[in-house]
Amino acid sequence: MVESDPVVSDLIARQVLGAMGLKVKVVEEASSAFQESLSFSPDLVIANLDLPGLSGKDLMAALSSQSVQVPVIMIAPKGQEKDVIQAFRLGASDYIPSPVREAEVASAVERALKTVRARREREGLRQQLERANHELQRRVTELTTLFGVGKAVTSVTDQRKLFQMILESGMKITRADSAWLLMQDERSGKYLLSDFINLPKSLADNLNQPWDDGVSSLVALSGETLTLNGEALKRFKISSLGQAAMVVPVKVGKSAIALLVMLRKANQEFDSSDTAMLEAVSDYASISLVNARLFRALDQRAASLQSEMERSHSTERAKDEMIQNVSHELRTPLVAAKGYVDMLVNGDMGGLAADQKDALSIAQQKLVRVLELVEAMALMMDTAAPKKLKDHNLNDLASQALGRYQAQARQAGVKLGAQLPKEPLIVHVDDEQLGIVFDQLISNAIKFSPNGGQVTVGAQRTRDHKVQVTVTDNGIGISKKHLNQIFDRFYQVDGSTTRQFGGLGIGLALVREIITAHGGQVGVESKVEQGSSFHFTLPVKQ
Ligand code: ADP
Repeated sequence: MVESDPVVSDLIARQVLGAMGLKVKVVEEASSAFQESLSFSPDLVIANLDLPGLSGKDLMAALSSQSVQVPVIMIAPKGQEKDVIQAFRLGASDYIPSPVREAEVASAVERALKTVRARREREGLRQQLERANHELQRRVTELTTLFGVGKAVTSVTDQRKLFQMILESGMKITRADSAWLLMQDERSGKYLLSDFINLPKSLADNLNQPWDDGVSSLVALSGETLTLNGEALKRFKISSLGQAAMVVPVKVGKSAIALLVMLRKANQEFDSSDTAMLEAVSDYASISLVNARLFRALDQRAASLQSEMERSHSTERAKDEMIQNVSHELRTPLVAAKGYVDMLVNGDMGGLAADQKDALSIAQQKLVRVLELVEAMALMMDTAAPKKLKDHNLNDLASQALGRYQAQARQAGVKLGAQLPKEPLIVHVDDEQLGIVFDQLISNAIKFSPNGGQVTVGAQRTRDHKVQVTVTDNGIGISKKHLNQIFDRFYQVDGSTTRQFGGLGIGLALVREIITAHGGQVGVESKVEQGSSFHFTLPVKQ
């Protein structure tokens, strides 16, 4: 209150304002009022316009030039309206005519203070909003960071990089000054320093070594997050690095396979939101660690399978080579032996007694069988891949094969027929190998057909630009349970039929190998006692 008249100031300051419970500072002149308003920072100034020395108007001007935001109520005797108007122009907020009346003062003060209170409330709300905004901003940053970690876990394959990212993100969202990751060694069970940010050089040398900061081991044991700061932290080694620590376990199931440690230099406790955030980071770390373990296991498994496969391939190759060599080596002496036996049986080397001839015939049959076996084996080893691929008309290959078997069919009382289209079916094949395929299928069909049976070789285009060849008979058929295996090497339906019909059980295996090597497929439909229909496909030229 700026008033030089003690009677007026007593009336206003003590009787009115004091009674309203307000704290009042009374000064007598404008110059000291200005000083006081800076140190006392009043909510309201009541000033007489008519002051000795500087006037109330000067005070107003000074206040507004210093942008002191305080409402000013002017007291002026009636008749000074001109000055009052000027004071209003300078920012006065109200005017009380003197001589003053208590009630008028009280209501003017009340009015002015109401605005002050409203302003203060507004200010409080503004600050609150600012804080909320700030907090929101922080949350967004935290969640964005966390989202980044989540994405990295599935896309970053380099584990070191991932660890760095996890530590950086953890530090960012918990506002830590340094951080490290300890990983449990699968063999020793000890926790090793696997990565860190901002560790002093002397400690950084401990990378991949067992690590003990005093606190982590507690978390490894309990499996629970731990936060410590100030005095409580002082008992532990870690306190030489900072004053607030948080350790979160990275768990797989119940066991902590790693520990994430965050440290603040200042004694500023990690709160529940920091904990929640770091635990989320730790969950991501856990996913990535489990992934890494799975990948490692898969890699090892793949490597061991690969080497096993290579081993078995090389034994398989060695076996094949041996069979090939043996069959080639056997063929020449066997052909020679058979030639002599043939000559003896035919009487080319002189007459034989009946029992001698019988014995030699048996030897001749056995030799034929062994030769068959040797030739089949050589064939088998030879047909691994098609060698001389050329365009051929499949109809011609089929007809030639039928021609080769006419005599044998006639002997067995089986009719051989063809159902081939007029248009050429051009296939890109090794004709010798295709010849083997036809031979095997036709000879089987004749072999397993009764006297009076019918064997038909057919060919037709399919809708998916292939040609399908069928060799059908009405022979003994094959029961369902054998159908899956007859294309396997050395598989024969049963021993007794084998004895009856001869054969080695490799014909169909050859057929399948040759056809698949040509990009086709083989198949069979059959009913016992009704007959079989073997078929294969090949890509055909348009
Ligand atoms: P092999 O005829 O030398 O025994 P294959 O591999 O050619 O060997 O045939 C395997 C087995 O499949 C034969 O032993 C026979 O049991 C059965 N098989 C093949 N073709 C026919 C067919 N047309 N009719 C009935 N059974 C067949």
